[in-house]
Amino acid sequence: MSEAAHPGWAVYDLDRLLANLAAIRRRCAPGQACIAALKGNAYGHGAAPVARALDGEGLAAFMTGSFDEACRLRAEGLRTPVVMFAGALPEGMADLVGAGLVPTIVDRAGAEAAAQAAAGKPAPVYVKVDAGLGRLGVPLEEAEGFLAGLADMPGLEVQGLYTHLPFGDARGRDWARERFDAFDALLARLEARGLAPPVTQAGASASVAAGLPDRSNAVCVGHLLYGLSPFADASVADVSAFKPVLAEVGSRLVQVSDHPQGSDIAIAGSYGIRRGRRTGVAPVGAAQGLARPAPGSRPEALIRGRRAPILAVSLEHLTLDLSEVEDAAVGDAVLLLGGDGGAAIGLGELAAWSGRRELDTVLALSGRLAAHYRGAAGGATRI
Ligand SMILES: *Cc1c(COP(=O)(O)O)cnc(C)c1O
Repeated sequence: MSEAAHPGWAVYDLDRLLANLAAIRRRCAPGQACIAALKGNAYGHGAAPVARALDGEGLAAFMTGSFDEACRLRAEGLRTPVVMFAGALPEGMADLVGAGLVPTIVDRAGAEAAAQAAAGKPAPVYVKVDAGLGRLGVPLEEAEGFLAGLADMPGLEVQGLYTHLPFGDARGRDWARERFDAFDALLARLEARGLAPPVTQAGASASVAAGLPDRSNAVCVGHLLYGLSPFADASVADVSAFKPVLAEVGSRLVQVSDHPQGSDIAIAGSYGIRRGRRTGVAPVGAAQGLARPAPGSRPEALIRGRRAPILAVSLEHLTLDLSEVEDAAVGDAVLLLGGDGGAAIGLGELAAWSGRRELDTVLALSGRLAAHYRGAAGGATRI
């Protein structure tokens, strides 16, 4: 479909992805490896282009949750191993192992199924420990015995051991610090017995941003890699060094109209206007993932480097007040996110008037607009 037939696009900046990775590495302990979390179609950014951009960066693994997505990543012929987060039934282990993926094991039944599926060489697996989040994994207190049991299974090669301790505020940080210590103590015991697998990981975006030290030799990052804050409370740590990979969201004016003073137009349910007004319409709306403006917010878009208030978001249209952009014309770009001349609208601003978190804003827009990729690997690609 040509852009003119339905103008609406999202630009993902892969150079920002690589710059965010470099900023993550600067905050990690020397020698600590990075694992990229690619779940949820790389947090809505497109798993395949993100993985291609990261494949030469020496990551310990790509981790994802969807079997289909993981198979598509494998089909890209990437060098980086693809590890599955926990989520498969024991009966599904044969599919994962058969597809060349590395499953996560959380119990004995899963371990036995993966070992049985091994053909020729032991099946590589990661083991997940529940160190306090209370969601998935072998309970921390049982993990040492569990790993000792796996050491006797010739069909398995335990390549990694990990846990997940995300937090969003200062209280969570204190909780995570204590849980990291407990996981580190487990690692120390495993190292002493020669049971520690090659890759160990507990750190993720929140702990990397907050600078929590840990004993593991890898971190697994999602939010920070995509330039998204993992925090509900912005005072926990400064994440301004990380720039959103979603760099631009735009459309074009398809009509500009003048409404004389006193005309009884009904935009956004407010009938009649006190003074003459010029309005414009762009063909993107809630169906393309835009939110209805949060009560009390003052949403704006950029046209010709100036701010135009958004009067209404309907199912497939956006109505704009062009009073301050009188020269606006059909075909002009309308940016909901991005920079134009000296003016810019950041992801934080778009998320704020949408009444959503940054990640949820990116997810809502994902896959509904023409996606353009710029940077990394020299040259833009389009999917
Ligand atoms: C999603 C996920 C991560 C990455 O978390 P971020 O906070 O986005 O960095 C790490 N580990 C596990 C198990 C996950 O599910």
